[in-house]
Amino acid sequence: HEENRRTEEKSNELEIIKEDLEHKNREVLLSSKYKSEFLANMSHELRTPLNSMLILSQILAENDTGNLQKKQVEYAQTIHSSGKDLLNLINDILDLAKVESGKVEVYPEQLQLNDIKAFVERQFSPVSKYKGLDFDIVIDKNAPSTIFTDDQRLKQILKNLLSNAFKFTNKGSVTLSVEPGTKETNSKMIFSVVDTGIGIAKDKQNLIFEAFSQVDGTTSRKFGGTGLGLSISRELSQLLGGYVTVESVENEGSTFSLYLPDYENNQTENASLLVAA
Ligand code: ADP
Repeated sequence: HEENRRTEEKSNELEIIKEDLEHKNREVLLSSKYKSEFLANMSHELRTPLNSMLILSQILAENDTGNLQKKQVEYAQTIHSSGKDLLNLINDILDLAKVESGKVEVYPEQLQLNDIKAFVERQFSPVSKYKGLDFDIVIDKNAPSTIFTDDQRLKQILKNLLSNAFKFTNKGSVTLSVEPGTKETNSKMIFSVVDTGIGIAKDKQNLIFEAFSQVDGTTSRKFGGTGLGLSISRELSQLLGGYVTVESVENEGSTFSLYLPDYENNQTENASLLVAA
């Protein structure tokens, strides 16, 4: 009898703990949602005044009237370029906040691989020439010619991965390879960005996907950037039902791969839950 009573008490206690945990979980999810909404609104309010500062500092920097002294033009240029850095940061924060608060809409459509290739070529040929790097797009003959997904989001992920590859590579090459997906990796297409750049130490490879994290966090670091690109790419890839992985050897280079399935409509809910978790 005593035994039964104790078992019942224990199970009641467990029930209470479980309810408490569920409640806490809901609170955490809600507070992170409010935080993201707040950030999304703030970023929007910050952009408007910043845009007018950018336009006016540009007009000053151009010095069309010829009335400004050399030093004054230089100051205007500095205001303009710092303003642009700030705008990039705000845009990244806005993007991240939008995905985290589930405000990103997905508009899937049948995309032609050739169009994606043309886009990437247009975007990155200038920087590859500027930095003297080889830039190749290698499409496996078995890669499907179309994928059903969101055009803007896919391009945004590829842009982030390729910009990093060009930023952190000073000699050699950057390659975008496209391969057919596999059942095991739950993908229809695999996009890999391979570079021969500075690489990433093993113990840093997980950290770089966290918001604001950069391998070189010193104030004197050589490379600009916000430390948000990879977090945004990871969240967006999940929103599309896929994921991003990294393989890298320090001083040899890195490979970032995006595994992407055809988009399925029931994924939005799952993906935003994943993002919230
Ligand atoms: P950002 O490039 O703006 O700093 P990201 O989130 O895109 O932010 O990247 C985070 C960090 O990961 C970078 O600062 C860099 O240290 C590292 N990283 C990303 N891509 C590469 C790459 N291709 N090669 C070497 N390091 C990289």
